Amino acid sequence: MRAIRRFTVRPVLPDELSGLGDLAANLRWSWHPETQDVFRAMDPELWESVHRDPVRMLGAVGPRRLAELAGDRRFRTMVELAVADLEHYLTGPGWFGERAQEADRPAPRSIAYFSPEFGITAVLPQYSGGLGILAGDHLKTASDLGVPLVGVGLLYRHGYFRQSLSREGWQEETYPVLDPDGLPISLLREDDGRPAQVEVPVPGDAPLRARIWVAQVGRVPLLLLDSDVEENPSALREVTDRLYGGTTEHRLLQELLLGVGGVRALRAHSRITGAPDPEVFHTNEGHAGFLGVERIRELTTEGPQLDFDTALEVSRAGTVFTTHTPVPAGIDRFPRDLVEQYFGGNSPTPGVPVERVLALGAEDFDGGDAGVFNMAVMGFRLAQRANGVSELHGQVSRGMFNGLWSDFDVTDVPITSITNGVHAPTWVAREVFELASSAGADVEGAGVWDAVDKVPAGDIWSTKRVLRQRLVDDARRRVHASWLNRGAARAELGWVDSVLDPDVLTIGFARRVPSYKRLTLMLRDPARLKRLLLDPERPVQLVIAGKSHPADDGGKRLIQEIVRFADDPEVRHRIVFLPNYDIAMAQPLYPGCDVWLNNPLRPYEACGTSGMKAALNGGLNLSILDGWWDEWYDGNNGWAIPSADVVHDADHRDDIEATALYDLIEHEVAPRFYDVDAAGVPTRWIEMVRHTLKSLGPKVLATRMVRDYVDRLYAPSAVASRALNGDYGRAAEFADWKRRVVEAWPGVRVEHVESSGLADAPEVGSRVQVRVFASLGSLAPSDVEVQLVHGAVAHEDDLVDVATSALRPVEEYEGGRHRFEGEVTLGTTGPFGYTVRVLPRHDRMAAPAELGLVALP
Ligand SMILES: *Cc1c(COP(=O)(O)O)cnc(C)c1O
Repeated sequence: MRAIRRFTVRPVLPDELSGLGDLAANLRWSWHPETQDVFRAMDPELWESVHRDPVRMLGAVGPRRLAELAGDRRFRTMVELAVADLEHYLTGPGWFGERAQEADRPAPRSIAYFSPEFGITAVLPQYSGGLGILAGDHLKTASDLGVPLVGVGLLYRHGYFRQSLSREGWQEETYPVLDPDGLPISLLREDDGRPAQVEVPVPGDAPLRARIWVAQVGRVPLLLLDSDVEENPSALREVTDRLYGGTTEHRLLQELLLGVGGVRALRAHSRITGAPDPEVFHTNEGHAGFLGVERIRELTTEGPQLDFDTALEVSRAGTVFTTHTPVPAGIDRFPRDLVEQYFGGNSPTPGVPVERVLALGAEDFDGGDAGVFNMAVMGFRLAQRANGVSELHGQVSRGMFNGLWSDFDVTDVPITSITNGVHAPTWVAREVFELASSAGADVEGAGVWDAVDKVPAGDIWSTKRVLRQRLVDDARRRVHASWLNRGAARAELGWVDSVLDPDVLTIGFARRVPSYKRLTLMLRDPARLKRLLLDPERPVQLVIAGKSHPADDGGKRLIQEIVRFADDPEVRHRIVFLPNYDIAMAQPLYPGCDVWLNNPLRPYEACGTSGMKAALNGGLNLSILDGWWDEWYDGNNGWAIPSADVVHDADHRDDIEATALYDLIEHEVAPRFYDVDAAGVPTRWIEMVRHTLKSLGPKVLATRMVRDYVDRLYAPSAVASRALNGDYGRAAEFADWKRRVVEAWPGVRVEHVESSGLADAPEVGSRVQVRVFASLGSLAPSDVEVQLVHGAVAHEDDLVDVATSALRPVEEYEGGRHRFEGEVTLGTTGPFGYTVRVLPRHDRMAAPAELGLVALP
């Protein structure tokens, strides 16, 4: 494999066209059609054959054509305008710049965003699915909004795999070698020109070394660590070989490089470029969690030489952790012994005691496994703020990780949620933007969603047909190529020209193929599916895609089932499986679909984003009420497939849900789609499209998501981090206080509760006085909050619509025993109840449950 080293020779551009180099070097081209136009104009055919990759385009175009273009005044102007536009884009204040002007809104100086994968463009294939696409959208949106973010990831020499099919429909994987010199990235270099390197000690004689590539994503730099350097022994060169491949130990090495090496790469980047050191570290899923251990090492062994607990507080204050999966098998876990072996010997973070590291990932709670080191658990312990990625997922995560705060009710578990969003400039078809601007709005501008009503129904409909036709053309190309690859002769493939029909109701289904996503639910009753596809009056057609993890034969069997069904000559013009789902396929897929189907097993879809991309392109969602759809389905913006959650037999449940799916397609979706007026326009369908755009448009945008992250997590985290970094004494005091409270807590008790003022017939507005007598042991009243928790009583004595209010300390009536008092006003009719609880209280806590301590009567 290594015998041939390939190099891409970068072209020397004529001076007049040097701007092309700047345009190719900033990935903003990937979401800016006008910049793509510049490259296309150089040679439209060549542009397609280099898969719309500017770096390859510049390498392929040839000196003669370059000279010609240098002499072409119109082309030069095009380049100049695009460069000026990029300059303008990079230097404006953006939403964040304006926000930072407001006195009472603290702005983080810089935020580091760590992720094991980044899906930015098809030409930088460093992602496998939703997590990576989300990370890419996060970076692009931060750039658009002017949020000072820097991304940190790994550069995988083979990226993720390319999927193809065998004759029998079995998934096959290939791992093309990526030549970094042919990618839109450049090496971070020291002032003397040498590539900057980081080192991470690992067992054995040699440390793991990596160089740092920088991808420029608009104004956001993305640092990608690459272990394929000459100085590494060959086994270590392979650490960044591929995404999600290899043994458990291989994955641990990758995660050490990402977390520990990632922080070191950030420091090198700041040192060399003068970029500010991040105040907030965002861990996108558990994989990068070791970044917190490295920051503790910095604080304990360098500069301030803090003790571990103080360093932990400093680091936690500036860390945000996002969990991404409710599937227990999806949680990243290592054998404890393996982690011990790494951190116990030639530790990647020398000076940090191995037992402290092990404690961070320990499953030392009910149902936990003592032999396991859990990266998600470490993520929560190392981050003062944490979230899930939809409301439902937040709720499910609070239940899943309740063990870390086991004395608290699920609702008090300090995991909030911020629902994912998608980057419109990447995912919305150009024609849709043009339609919006024809009605006097740009898709991200204010009031844009109301402009949807001004676009004539006929125009919406004809645009959807253009987009459907584009998808049909792309699908035919892919089916043709796939069959050649499966061993068919060209002459046998005439039928491919009539695969799919641009006037038929088109349903899309594309995603990774873990079992909970139920790729084959639609095949539950093959005869019924066939009838839907072949209906003479109201046919539907299905476009399906998805990769299975290479080690998951179960997933590959599901793909094979679909492929075999789609191979049938009777239906193959109405259903296709397109191999190698990636960004390049996804971009024409979402706009070309009328309906986006999603039928996961509720509640395992943490959020899902593909349906959001479909919605922004005027597609209607047909989905199980899971993830984001559970939150934003309103009865009219698509269809909800009823979920048979209560049925425990998996087969039976699938039958019920599949039947509901067929019924919806047959009785609701297809009739509406084919119900056209005299002009051939399905007006009731278009009404639903308009409603989808107006109701979902503002919510599903990644601009909404990133603003939420800034306002709700990054800014508070920056404030906390700044306070502790500005005065380590405060961190030490907080760490001491925590230690003291943990020790004293067994002595904290509610002794007695009294109330008065309750009349025989209380009414709304009546007041109740409550007195609590509590023993605080060695703690002072200021160390705790005594809370009155009140609400309406539902069945089984549960309180609903709960509100809390703090009682005030009144007197110490006996040594260590204090009386607290307060009052509550009855706000609603019906059964009313209250309870009291004592919690630790400190200004530096981010949530009442932070210490996991509570005392109840
Ligand atoms: C959006 C997208 C995904 C994620 O979609 P989900 O709905 O979260 O499954 C995966 N792959 C590609 C190529 C995408 O564009």
